[in-house]
Amino acid sequence: MNPRRVSKPIQIGRVTIGGNAPIVVQSMTNTDTRDVMSTISQIKELEECGCELVRVAVPDMEAARAIQAIKRVISIPLIADIHFDYRLALKAIEAGCDGLRLNPGNINQSEKVKAVVMAAKERNIPIRIGVNAGSLPKTANPKLPVAQQMVVAALQQIRLLESLDFDLLKVSLKAFDVPTTIEAYKSIAQKIPYPLHIGITEAGLPRTGVIRSAVGISTLLYLGIGDTIRVSLTAHPREEVIAGYEILKSLNLRQHGPILVSCPSCGRAEVDIIKLAEAVEEKLAKISKPIKVAVMGCVVNGPGEAKDADVGIACGNGKAILFKKGKKIGVVEEKDFVSALMAEVEEF
Ligand code: SF4
Repeated sequence: MNPRRVSKPIQIGRVTIGGNAPIVVQSMTNTDTRDVMSTISQIKELEECGCELVRVAVPDMEAARAIQAIKRVISIPLIADIHFDYRLALKAIEAGCDGLRLNPGNINQSEKVKAVVMAAKERNIPIRIGVNAGSLPKTANPKLPVAQQMVVAALQQIRLLESLDFDLLKVSLKAFDVPTTIEAYKSIAQKIPYPLHIGITEAGLPRTGVIRSAVGISTLLYLGIGDTIRVSLTAHPREEVIAGYEILKSLNLRQHGPILVSCPSCGRAEVDIIKLAEAVEEKLAKISKPIKVAVMGCVVNGPGEAKDADVGIACGNGKAILFKKGKKIGVVEEKDFVSALMAEVEEF
């Protein structure tokens, strides 16, 4: 795994992005921001599952104003997502947002950008320059590969903000196409010192979207690129947070709640491993501490295959061996498989 790219850290509320800070998991609400109660309720739910930064859509002035009431009761920093109308950014800043996302594809007149930058500067509010392959600026050169067009669009906006003596920047270059996204980030990572928000945009429904996002995000993270991630899914945003942590855990970049190791099962298994693993997964969802738990289909290979698990169960015909760190600690009856395993997990 490549060493992490060195980036200039920024502060969004109490959360640091870039530098040596842990890679931050973020998401975006899908409620109507003007519906303050629903938006607060969804943000609270996201906080509970570990979301560290939340973005809300700001399609009009009412949504911008709603930020003030939302901010009063949430604990994580809030980023206002602005398209088309720079005045919405000004209002969101006034309402107390902690960060802004601007799309250079649709707010690019320098006077308007300047007004937003001056207001952000006054309050130390970082801005993400969020380039999206689907909404490139009209000035983009279609003869260039899309990845390059994205890089050029970002650099133009970055240079404009730098000329205004503003460097509280974070940058994203998202496309649906994974290789395009990777190429764009690899290119910009060498050209700017700012932290990078990475993700695959419009990745789809969870079954395919999680895979597409994991392939793109983890390739970049493995290359040392990326300071904050969002998994964009057509689903409740809690799924994005869960998937985000799973990606980071897979690369040993963050610890967050349990890791479930379960064997694929084979002709040697004498219990329904899928059912058992699902039951254990459901119980583990309520645990926040990091612990590695194994559910294995047979006593022959189970403990050995999962020897780095903290606790586990290896099932036989009607009975199972409980093990800790690959060592046998007891035998349990089939009716007690889940409860006995969970008792060990609790004790651990
Ligand atoms: Fe098959 Fe046993 Fe390995 Fe599971 S642990 S895949 S049942 S050999």
